[in-house]
Amino acid sequence: MSLPYRSDLRAWDVIVAGGGTAGAVAGIAAARTGARVLVVEAQGSLGGTGTNAWVTPLMRNVSGGQNLNRGLTDELKARLAARGDGATDAGGNDNWFNPEGLKFVLEELLQEAGGEVLYHTQVVQPLMEGGHIGALIVHNKGGLQALRAAVFIDATGDADVAALAGVPFQAGDEDGVHQAMSLRFTLAGVDVGRLRDFLNAQGQWQDSPDFLHFWMVWGRKSSLEGLFREAVAAGVLEERDGDYFQGFSVPGRPGELSFNCPRIRADLNDATDPWQLSAAQTDGRAAITRLLAFCRRFLPGCGGAYLGVVAPMVGVRDSRRIVGDYTLTVTDLLDCVKFPDVICRNHYPVDIHSVRGGARLLHEREGSAPYFAPDAWHDIPYRALVPQGASNLLVPGRAASSTFEAQSAIRVQQNCHSMGEAAGIAAAWAATPSGRSDVRAVDVAALQDELRRRGGNV
Ligand SMILES: Cc1cc2nc3c(=O)[nH]c(=O)nc-3n(C[C@H](O)[C@H](O)[C@H](O)COP(=O)(O)OP(=O)(O)OC[C@H]3O[C@@H](n4cnc5c(N)ncnc54)[C@H](O)[C@@H]3O)c2cc1C
Repeated sequence: MSLPYRSDLRAWDVIVAGGGTAGAVAGIAAARTGARVLVVEAQGSLGGTGTNAWVTPLMRNVSGGQNLNRGLTDELKARLAARGDGATDAGGNDNWFNPEGLKFVLEELLQEAGGEVLYHTQVVQPLMEGGHIGALIVHNKGGLQALRAAVFIDATGDADVAALAGVPFQAGDEDGVHQAMSLRFTLAGVDVGRLRDFLNAQGQWQDSPDFLHFWMVWGRKSSLEGLFREAVAAGVLEERDGDYFQGFSVPGRPGELSFNCPRIRADLNDATDPWQLSAAQTDGRAAITRLLAFCRRFLPGCGGAYLGVVAPMVGVRDSRRIVGDYTLTVTDLLDCVKFPDVICRNHYPVDIHSVRGGARLLHEREGSAPYFAPDAWHDIPYRALVPQGASNLLVPGRAASSTFEAQSAIRVQQNCHSMGEAAGIAAAWAATPSGRSDVRAVDVAALQDELRRRGGNV
């Protein structure tokens, strides 16, 4: 009987499954380390949640006034700024970017490093040889194919490869419930000056003449709450549309506002269930129709505005998390635990967008834990990227080994960049003959030196 897939005769040193926030950076870092790299991506561009789910900005991850993520994430910011697709706001936050620009930057950096990408291709199955992955079966317009490599990086966000390889994983909170998904969109053709004057008059002070940031969450004392109440009473919005509403400007796109909403219906929170994911897209579009009507009718300066972009990907905050050689906990965060195998530092708080309403931030908890000092941070260890039961696989990004609460803190984009950079270098080293395709044999002290040599902060 012939095999149901065609084997690609080429083989790579490193294959990255998923060219998203962590995966694109991992591919660039591995290629710069000298590995033959292939990034396999389901969408038609790199960047994942940061680009195709339109998640801007990079959340700040600062301790003692210094950004904790450096290295490749700094390079992305510099390239974005050079294109006019990155900006610093009046508060000194340099993490704003245009998602469309980031797609170009990531692709350029990967190609300059000699890496390859295969778009519109879904990884469907790893071929296992014991605890070792021999190849990935992928599906695209060419049918099923097997792609071989010495080492693999699972940067699908959902730990698709790891789960299919038999790596143990956790999903959701103690009840298996995930954070809310969101379908982000933009509003174009906005009279930003008029809207700014209105927001200032409402008490949502705008620091910069051309950079807006405004929000409303029920019960959080937003000055826009009255307007939302009126819109619900008028049948323009549903009650749930006020569970989370946030808008801001986008660099390089004057007159356009990007929205960190709508939240998807609470019962649709499992992104690994294809039916829920599909229904989330439909539910999100219906909510966008309501929010569009609200903005046009209730927000001055938006009367002539139109729908700019609906993100191609539903934004997923959490799905599967691997069980790795170390699982990061919220106690590690609060106690600012430092690990000998640190590959990334974090001071972003627990940030749970619960489907039960609101957003929970660790900063709002009373506490004298070391975490609350302004110059505090905790480490993310290399072992959190190393999945149990697999020898040639690394899992950077939001699926890294962590508890539900800890994941909600470390998942922000710059941490995904840093985890991706470390995974890329480690995978490239493990793929050499002396590395024996064993990610546990990587010299972590040498990895830390290499990260520092590339501008990293570990
Ligand atoms: C609504 C929302 C708002 C957020 N706000 C912020 C914010 O303001 N700032 C911030 O820093 N962070 C924010 N985050 C968190 C952050 O954006 C994500 O945690 C992070 O981008 C995840 O990166 P990742 O590399 O793990 O996954 P992703 O970036 O999602 O990458 C996964 C990639 O794998 C691809 N893929 C998936 N499965 C397969 C497969 N089987 N085969 C091939 N390819 C596959 C996907 O297409 C995607 O490109 C937000 C997240 C969401 C959802």
